Amino acid sequence: MALPPLVMLVVWMFSWRWEILCPHGVLPRPLEMLGWLLLAILAASHRPWGGTSLGLGAFVLVPSIERLGTVPTVLVAAVALILADSLRQAAAVPPGKKLEASLQSLSWVHLSLPPLVAAVLLAGLGRTGMGPAEISPSTLSPIFLEVTVPGLVFVLALHLVALACQRWRSAVGMAREFPGALGASPWPPAYLALDGAAWVLGALVTEAARRAGWGWLVPLVLAIALLAAEAARNDILRGVSDHRAGDLERLQEAHVRILAETAGMGEIAQQILTECHNVLPVHHFQFERLWGDDSQAEPRSWSAGHRGTVSPGEPRPEARPRMLPGVHRRADWKVLEKFLVAEGETLAVVRLWCDPRSIKPGAEELLTTLVPQMASSVHRARLDREAKLDPLTGVPVRRILERRLQKAYRDCCEEGRSMAVIMCDIDFFKKVNDTHGHAAGDAALVAFARALEAARRETDLLCRYGGEEFTLLLENTAGAKALQLAERLRKAVEDIPLVYEGRSIPLTMSTGVAAFPELHIKTASELQLLADEALYQAKASGRNRCLLNIGRGAYLTVDGERLGNSSSDLRLPHVLG
Ligand code: GH3
Ligand code: MG
Ligand code: MG
Repeated sequence: MALPPLVMLVVWMFSWRWEILCPHGVLPRPLEMLGWLLLAILAASHRPWGGTSLGLGAFVLVPSIERLGTVPTVLVAAVALILADSLRQAAAVPPGKKLEASLQSLSWVHLSLPPLVAAVLLAGLGRTGMGPAEISPSTLSPIFLEVTVPGLVFVLALHLVALACQRWRSAVGMAREFPGALGASPWPPAYLALDGAAWVLGALVTEAARRAGWGWLVPLVLAIALLAAEAARNDILRGVSDHRAGDLERLQEAHVRILAETAGMGEIAQQILTECHNVLPVHHFQFERLWGDDSQAEPRSWSAGHRGTVSPGEPRPEARPRMLPGVHRRADWKVLEKFLVAEGETLAVVRLWCDPRSIKPGAEELLTTLVPQMASSVHRARLDREAKLDPLTGVPVRRILERRLQKAYRDCCEEGRSMAVIMCDIDFFKKVNDTHGHAAGDAALVAFARALEAARRETDLLCRYGGEEFTLLLENTAGAKALQLAERLRKAVEDIPLVYEGRSIPLTMSTGVAAFPELHIKTASELQLLADEALYQAKASGRNRCLLNIGRGAYLTVDGERLGNSSSDLRLPHVLG
């Protein structure tokens, strides 16, 4: 937008050197110049295809060149372009209620304009003495050659430069980084045709004025400007209704997406960011969970930077937004904070770091309308999570294990991989309850779950099977490796420094391990039964130990010692640590 006016202003500033281009001076006939300027602004506010040009306003240029000279016309064009563009931007997307109402109430113009313009044109043409037959290339040739052809060449050149700039901006990545600041590029031939038509109209008007006198031109030019203003009004109103329809559609889509099935809170945070991005340009993002406490395994804060990928942690925005392309004032971040409230409880807060220069009018209101949907998706995800987690220890419940076990078994059968199950049971736990009280027993269970969680691998699923029994599902793990892991867990439990009301509570556990395909099973739950058998054997053979079920009533200790039925034909694992 800034390029053509800048070029024009520079031309005007140095114009005192070129007398031939300003025969009447650099600022001739100021009042008349102001008149041309107002007309150009009025007519240039009509931009059916967007574009950085005077559009219909270009019709002013030809008579203005004739009356004022080329260089003062350059000034008129530059100022008109800047003001018309600013006016349109202020009015267009979406205008305030007051402006929109006043635009609507202008419909009398709509009704009275066409007959008015037709009457003025007919009267004017009558006065010039030019019948339609006389408007031919030969009668108009001087004005076409002198002004219109150079004008059209100028318009074409300007747009080629503008297009090249647009290409360059996309090539250096500015268009991607500041999507809100650039807008969609219009279709050049459409607005070039509009500019061209305006120049031809200007040439016709000038030719007519040369014949019939400039006084007659005033109502004609006014009528043309009014016509353009009316077209601009319709255009703006249509833009507003398109924008509203688009907003509604986006809101609908966002509603569907946000409420769709999702997994963890991280995914919810990512979805919320995507929806925010659709409404306004977000440079930094934070989703902070406000329910629960820090003892939960889940992070409290998720954040995202320019790249838009959400990960656990706090955001680190720079001190200020980066420069936008073109000439802009330095700005501070605008931090939008939205609290997500469901059923009277504040669940989370969403913080958005935005560049105030690229927030479109109405975007914040649109964001506010999305907040209840965001809150309900967080609420649902939280309920969903709570149904899956054991309230005392925070680890998944048995139902989750059974679901995962079935799937893992199917995958193993299809892809020939291995899997193992470890059943853990605290030794003499009843005694803990009896000696120290139920509350101490609860504290022991929480400490036990934390120790298992810390010692297992990231990919192993740990869940509370019931009471003081916990189960782990190990995918892609053979029996020998699972036994080593079970031993690691056993040691971790032995090392829990549990002190309750000043009294130390030592904990030990026994584990039973079973693996597929070392053991032949027909269903996934058979593996659980076999691990349970090994656990029973571990209890029976002295507790605080790990046993691997190797089939046919035989078990293996972590030292490679075989227990139970000696006729088991299972191949012994070679490496046991
Ligand atoms: P073993 O070594 O044979 O496993 O002996 P044990 O005492 O651990 O086994 P038993 O099955 O006899 O006792 C389990 C106890 O765990 C009984 C029950 O009161 C207790 N328990 C189960 N769930 C909870 C709980 O959520 N909190 C508390 N404090 N105790 C629980
Ligand atoms: Mg027990
Ligand atoms: Mg038990």
